[in-house]
Amino acid sequence: MRKRIIAGNWKMYKLPNEAADFAEQIKERLTASDQVEAVICPPALYIGDLLQRFETSAVKVGAQTMHDTAEGAFTGEVSPAMLESLGVHYVILGHSERRQYFNETDETVNKKVLAAFKHHLTPIVCVGETLEQREMHETVSIVSEQVTAAFASVTAEQAKQSVIAYEPIWAIGTGKTATAEDANEVCAAIRHKVETIYSKEVADAIRIQYGGSVKPENIAELLSKEHIDGALVGGASLDPDAFVQLVEAGTHVE
Ligand code: PGA
Repeated sequence: MRKRIIAGNWKMYKLPNEAADFAEQIKERLTASDQVEAVICPPALYIGDLLQRFETSAVKVGAQTMHDTAEGAFTGEVSPAMLESLGVHYVILGHSERRQYFNETDETVNKKVLAAFKHHLTPIVCVGETLEQREMHETVSIVSEQVTAAFASVTAEQAKQSVIAYEPIWAIGTGKTATAEDANEVCAAIRHKVETIYSKEVADAIRIQYGGSVKPENIAELLSKEHIDGALVGGASLDPDAFVQLVEAGTHVE
């Protein structure tokens, strides 16, 4: 069985004391589980502090983005080597906000995915369609293209360990969630794409999350679907109680 993964994407929220309070509130409540793993992706400034606070807990820390080279004259950027040496496990790549506001393209996402593996980081690769694309029935072709581009030159062994987050752009931060059936259908199509690029073995191993207005009230139904292996959560991950509930939902799937 694939281990579920609930990842909180804090985006550009929380002051340092709020981040610390959150960590102190959840660290004892989430214990290691064979069924689900919990990841918090805070703003880069807090990664070091949260890694220390979660050192003896089951919660892992991820980054929200990174550059694709180990070091260089790139003012303001964070490198994969820096994340690796701090002990970061995951890195979100190609989030739609990065694609929309920071010129991230399929090509740069691919470079970053390759860099992540070079530095022993597990990428959470985000794909998803706009409302217009959904209405034009282009969802499956768009996400398939994004997956194909992101995984160019990625080996089967690496692909197996990866996480893909299917995030319909129209569902992010809007309170609109795709129905569990629709989300599952697209996640199934993504898994099928992975099978055609690699093999059934890789497709069976890769974990696919749904993201877009996930909250404690709708997580159970999403996780009950065959192809949804977890969630990438923005807004609801900012609240410690909600985050704990989301992770706990991963251990009680019907
Ligand atoms: P949301 O964000 O849960 O606030 O919709 C999801 C995301 O952007 O990853």
